[in-house]
Amino acid sequence: MGSRGSPAAARVTVLGSGTSHGVPMIGCDCPVCTSSDPRDIRLRPSIYVEIDGHASIMVDMTPDFRQQALRHRIRRIDAVLFTHSHADHILGFDEIRRFNTMQGGLIRAYGNGEAWDVLKRSFYYAFDGLPRLGGGVPQVVDIEVTAPFAVDRVQIVPVPVWHGQLPVLGFRMGGFAYITDCSRIPDESWPLLDGLDTLVLGALRDEPHPTHFTVAEALEAIARIAPRRAFLTHMTHELGHAATSARLPAGVELAYDGLVLDVSVDVE
Ligand SMILES: [Zn+2]
Ligand SMILES: [Zn+2]
Ligand SMILES: [Zn+2]
Repeated sequence: MGSRGSPAAARVTVLGSGTSHGVPMIGCDCPVCTSSDPRDIRLRPSIYVEIDGHASIMVDMTPDFRQQALRHRIRRIDAVLFTHSHADHILGFDEIRRFNTMQGGLIRAYGNGEAWDVLKRSFYYAFDGLPRLGGGVPQVVDIEVTAPFAVDRVQIVPVPVWHGQLPVLGFRMGGFAYITDCSRIPDESWPLLDGLDTLVLGALRDEPHPTHFTVAEALEAIARIAPRRAFLTHMTHELGHAATSARLPAGVELAYDGLVLDVSVDVE
């Protein structure tokens, strides 16, 4: 997959590696929520992908997006890819306004039909076309993803996976793929993950969950995909960084907020 383009270097920053509650979780005094290890502080899950000479792309915009953008001095977003419509992945949508102003135009946003259905209800004021006094609204070009596409000539392959009963998208760019909320990879999506260099994959906790991979299930999927290296993300407070890292196999690590990965993407 994606071998037709020429490679371009890209930098992936993990802006958040936590589950929907974040870590620490409100009102929790457990060892991980009170840990002094900075890698145990996890904002809600998203990544920022900067491609040399090409686009800068957000994957999901969390309720923590403003804080994440300030921390990492994010000044440009050429496109936003939405994996799905859950609150921990979309509630930063309104912050697109600032990028509309700085960049002087609309921003292309991509998601599957389910994601758009919810986004357009949740942020109705951005889509109803009614004039509004003051404030302004996020301005996007809404694009429904049904097949591979390109952003500024960067090839992006959607990877359909199941999040419980919900059809959601992972995204592959060249040798890199990001799949957050996933409990099952369907037969037709495994080939889309062949020959990966770097995979970031969701792993919620050790206890089984109806809509997320456990650590063991994520490790099984990683073994089958066999990327050169893999990072787990979207973790609860049950997975302390140091203790969990110590029991992962070679080539697999826990992601943490601020982790930067050098990857290679394909440009048309
Ligand atoms: Zn989530
Ligand atoms: Zn806790
Ligand atoms: Zn979700």
